[in-house]
Amino acid sequence: MKDQYGREVNYLRVSITDLCNLRCQYCMPESGIEKKAHSNILSFEEIIEIVETAVELGIDKIRITGGEPLVRKGVVSLIHSLSQIKGIKDLAMTTNGILLKEYAKDLKDAGLNRVNVSLDTLNEERYNEITRGGNIEAVMEGLEAAMTVGLTPLKINTVVIKDFNDDEIMDFVQMTLNLPIDVRFIELMPIGQVGVEGKHQFMSNKEIRGKLQGLIPVETEDSVAKIFKFPGAEGRIGFIDPISSHFCSTCNKIRLTSDGKVKTCLHNNDEVDLKDILLKKDHQLLKNTIEAVILDKPERHHLNEAQEPITRDMNKIGG
Ligand code: SAM
Ligand code: SF4
Repeated sequence: MKDQYGREVNYLRVSITDLCNLRCQYCMPESGIEKKAHSNILSFEEIIEIVETAVELGIDKIRITGGEPLVRKGVVSLIHSLSQIKGIKDLAMTTNGILLKEYAKDLKDAGLNRVNVSLDTLNEERYNEITRGGNIEAVMEGLEAAMTVGLTPLKINTVVIKDFNDDEIMDFVQMTLNLPIDVRFIELMPIGQVGVEGKHQFMSNKEIRGKLQGLIPVETEDSVAKIFKFPGAEGRIGFIDPISSHFCSTCNKIRLTSDGKVKTCLHNNDEVDLKDILLKKDHQLLKNTIEAVILDKPERHHLNEAQEPITRDMNKIGG
């Protein structure tokens, strides 16, 4: 369905947990987060009901995210149930890849189409530093497993941080030359904790594009990333610029948090609670609520202007 500004909203990102097995510096507090009571987290039945209702309203792309989605018990069975919903054209997942080797085949068999794996550096020590303890070897094995079982097209999400990993941009580009992997450079966003601590490390995608001469633009249906490739390369390079050139006019997304809030914009604090509505067991009420939320999606974000800080860290929203 269309929102009040005429944008076709067809994409729902579902965060199934805000817990994670890593502690990325720009996403999670070092101490982790408090585990929520079971009753405060959407059950799989509730997630399925919300997704089915959203699909009735025209959502046809679903991405499972978190926190780290692969740490939630029963994730494969959830994927299986979601894959049975008629009307979903694309069922994908964003993961840090740590548990992907273990889960790749089961996820594929359950009906997952593809994965995006987050990887900011190819250097073992740096990976350990930015994730506060992660083992890059596990991610590499996860990537290989995803390619082997066909969770493709495989995409790598890379947040570029000035003076941390900007010297590795060419190494990531190199991956796209010989492997069928798309690399997407994502601008660091001032969300949650990073809003206070991380602004000095921002590097714009414009600056990165300036370093990469010879890129050819590729036409795609992607509503947020600008896609390019090098001549003859197997993979492509995407740029996601939420800060330097916001893509609000083509944003087709809504988000569901693991505690049952629906959000129409990553960059404001507005959210509508669906958990309470689910308790009323009134399908039409649920549908009307989601419809009203979509209609009310804001025209654009105001991250570059003075605005109240985004209070939820990324792990609690679902990137
Ligand atoms: N744990 C999974 C993962 O890391 O892929 C899924 C959830 S994570 C919140 C989703 C994406 O959000 C990751 O690619 C991560 O790099 C990105 N992210 C988290 N905090 C961010 C921030 N402050 N700015 C830009 N991207 C961020
Ligand atoms: Fe965990 Fe993903 Fe956040 Fe890193 S970016 S802390 S892997 S949720």
